[in-house]
Amino acid sequence: VIGFIEIVMTDSKSKVKKSNQKYLETALNEAKLLKTLIDDLLDLSQFKAGKTNMDISDISVKDLIASLIVSMKPLTKGKELKLTAKKIDKNIIIKGDYSKVRRIFLNIISNAIKFTKKGDISISCIETEHYVEISVTDTGIGIRSSEKEIIFEKFRQIDYSSRREYDGIGLGLSIVKELVEMHNGTIKIESEYGRGSTFTVLLPSL
Ligand code: ADP
Repeated sequence: VIGFIEIVMTDSKSKVKKSNQKYLETALNEAKLLKTLIDDLLDLSQFKAGKTNMDISDISVKDLIASLIVSMKPLTKGKELKLTAKKIDKNIIIKGDYSKVRRIFLNIISNAIKFTKKGDISISCIETEHYVEISVTDTGIGIRSSEKEIIFEKFRQIDYSSRREYDGIGLGLSIVKELVEMHNGTIKIESEYGRGSTFTVLLPSL
């Protein structure tokens, strides 16, 4: 469906009226949202069924975060928002499935960008005795204490009055939680409602 809509939209010979072009754009966006929903649901049920292969390798946290910043910066466009990394020791290595670990942080950082109008999003990492702790801190809308657990449930989104201004379907953090657990890690949230949040992923250190 996405492919056919794109063909019609980009074919210079197809004479689509301006007003109809808008409908095509809407159809394309809706089709993409549905695809994300289906992909996420399938991934989530596969993770839950324990049917996912783990392709484990050594991951340099410094390199991972540098690449995440390059990929995610475009999402801050149009907002007074800085996305930066604190100084990270280049010797910090975790063992994990690179694309899955990347997906954990893509989700967390894209939420941080989505729920922060202006200010800073900063990524930091420390190594403690048992864990490598990677944190994403934002200056966004924050999360009430009572809601810190429920946002990890499927399809749960916090229903602030202005909620509708944020898109998404509420599967991101359920996927994050599964992926973190697949790496024998945990995730914690510190937040001050109205001021910002920090999501910290703890992954076993080598
Ligand atoms: P989605 O982003 O699609 O709504 P998620 O599962 O990723 O779904 O997040 C669930 C809910 O948790 C969000 O709808 C939002 O209410 C809350 N949330 C997640 N990240 C943040 C954040 N950085 N700041 C404030 N609220 C957040």
